[in-house]
Formats: sequence, C-alpha cells, structure tokens
Amino acid sequence: MHEKQILADKKLSITTSRTRILNILLNSKEALSEKEIRGKLNDLHDRATIYRSLKIFTEKGIVHPVVTENLVMKYVIRKEPENHLHFKCTACGKVICMTGIRISSYSLPEGFVQYDSNFLVTGLCRTCNAQA
Ligand SMILES: [Zn+2]
Ligand SMILES: [Zn+2]
Repeated sequence: MHEKQILADKKLSITTSRTRILNILLNSKEALSEKEIRGKLNDLHDRATIYRSLKIFTEKGIVHPVVTENLVMKYVIRKEPENHLHFKCTACGKVICMTGIRISSYSLPEGFVQYDSNFLVTGLCRTCNAQA
C-alpha cells in the first residue's frame, strides 16, 4: 500500500491512525485542516493523535502546512517545486497548491532568517466564480 511505503521510507512506525490520515491527504486535491481530517475519519481518532501525526508528517517533509488568512493551518501532501503559490477561495474555503506558479527567487533584508513560506492569494476559485 502506498501509505505504508511512505511511512516506511521515512522510518516512521506504521499505525492505523497514521495510515488513515495519510490516505485522506493523498486522496485530497485541496489542503485540509485538522478538523476537516477529523471529520473524514468519522471522529475515530482524537485531536491529539491527529495533531501529533500531522506534526511528524510535517517534520519528515511528507506534508506541508499552509497558514490561511484566518490562521487555520491546512495540510497538503508536499509538492514540487518548493516555492509555489497557494490560493484560498473565500466562498468555498478551498485551499489549493498552484504548483504551476513558482515564486521567483527573493531575498530577505539582512538579519532575517526564513523558516517557511506560504504565499497565499485569496479570491474566488473557478467553480465559485462561475456561479457568481
Ligand atoms: Zn470556491
Ligand atoms: Zn502547497
């Protein structure tokens, strides 16, 4: 199974919760919050378990977190290239990776150190725009 292979490659122990969470993320086209993941798991696993799994997936580079404008973290399977744009639809709430749009190189002012980046654009997605 794909999920188990990913966990094994990252030297993570294979647990039911990790396998299920990874399966949800692999099958999602959009980034998901911890709450949305919990909903898809039919509340089978508690918040702490999901939180810990997402934290370790992030540390191992399996997923990347996207901070949305209301500060809710959404998680998505890591994609290349690393520096890409994110789009959040203000109507349906979807957060998607736009890997086709690469952020060209930039440099921070002297003394600043980057840990992570998000590059979030908000607006209407194609579906919602068509209905507007
Ligand atoms: Zn939308
Ligand atoms: Zn992304």
